[in-house]
Amino acid sequence: MDGARVRIVAVGDELLEGRTSDTNSTRIQRALGRHAIRVEDIAVVHDDEAAIAAALDRTEVGDIVFVCGGLGSTRDDLTREAIAAWAKVPLVVRDDLVAEISERYRRRGIPPMPESDKQAQVPAGCVPVTNPVGSAPGLVGRLAGRRLAVLPGVPAELQALLPRVIEELDRLGALPAAREIHLWRTAQMAELAVARRTEPVRERYPDLGWSWWLVDWGVDVRISGESHQSADLDAAARAVDGLLGDTVFAREMVGLPRVVQDLLMASGQTLAVAESCTGGLLGAAITGEEGSSACYLGGVLSYANAVKVDLLAVDAGDLERHGAVSREVAEQMAAGARTRLGADHALAVTGIAGPGGGTDEKPVGTTWIALAGPGGIQSGRYRFSGDRDRNRLLAVAAALDALRRTLTDMPAFAPDALTWGRPA
Ligand code: AMP
Ligand code: MG
Repeated sequence: MDGARVRIVAVGDELLEGRTSDTNSTRIQRALGRHAIRVEDIAVVHDDEAAIAAALDRTEVGDIVFVCGGLGSTRDDLTREAIAAWAKVPLVVRDDLVAEISERYRRRGIPPMPESDKQAQVPAGCVPVTNPVGSAPGLVGRLAGRRLAVLPGVPAELQALLPRVIEELDRLGALPAAREIHLWRTAQMAELAVARRTEPVRERYPDLGWSWWLVDWGVDVRISGESHQSADLDAAARAVDGLLGDTVFAREMVGLPRVVQDLLMASGQTLAVAESCTGGLLGAAITGEEGSSACYLGGVLSYANAVKVDLLAVDAGDLERHGAVSREVAEQMAAGARTRLGADHALAVTGIAGPGGGTDEKPVGTTWIALAGPGGIQSGRYRFSGDRDRNRLLAVAAALDALRRTLTDMPAFAPDALTWGRPA
């Protein structure tokens, strides 16, 4: 289906009162990325029947309309009712949904609430799409000439339902054919540096869709094309593979912690950490992945110098001579964590996250990362140029990437200080 336009209506008082930001619309846009349909506009409206109807009035026949929010069972959630009234169709109670909802309550060991029956109502003309994580099903159907997809507002529920709802829209013939996509997730390079490196390929294949964007772990690159561009896409992908080389940690949507954990598990090795400026963020990133207990032993949050000395056996004289943010201290922290925790590998991070604490010699963002492993100790110096939050995040990403590189038989660190920070 060519020329299909998407409109999003995000419903919720909280979105207009600054209590919640509208991340759901972003998720919907991303989920549609493969289908390369243009999102025409996003309307954010109050939990109010007239406001929802007015937003629906602004959509056009033929549009694909995503409505999110207001499918809860409380009185202030009115989206279902508003859509049915706007499309002049009745709300039909579905017995299968009533049964599903009471079964959900039974499993959770709480008596069903009469209000939740509301969630078994479906505007005539829509089909429910089972919600794997909550009680409000998604709704998909053709109403008033629009292809409508209605989703609950709770971000985890919306995210779980999105692929199912998009599949259902596809079944209705509402979506254009999916585009072919190649994705590269790179670490330890600035956005502009990645873009420059891939520029020769972009120049050769300007008709493919190109994008570069900054994410928590580094920079993602994507090229996409339609099926008749398949040969160009493959040739461009091979060229990009060659240019980005070992900076690429994944060719699919997985994060660096997942990649590192998979590498550790594959080789049956363990990890410990010693954190200073990251204050636990590195351990949190690793333990955020399911199955981390099989490879992650734990760590020492050695924020104060005394803790570095007492718990990690860092030399007090070296701390005095070189300062806490130094090669000597980072390497001793890593060695100390490796010995104390009995791990195969230990990562250490010590840096000046800012905004204060910088000097001419060690400006804000200066960070030392060290990795102690079976092959010895390696370390590298970084100059991050973000704010405090971003510098801490970049330190976590750089540390994880150093381990990834070691586990795939590459040097963990560049010979010179690496500098990057904000999006260019
Ligand atoms: P609701 O479906 O209206 O019951 O939404 C439940 C909760 O999901 C709200 O209280 C918000 O915290 C959250 N939420 C609703 N809409 C959005 C949105 N567009 N983006 C992010 N979070 C949302
Ligand atoms: Mg709401």
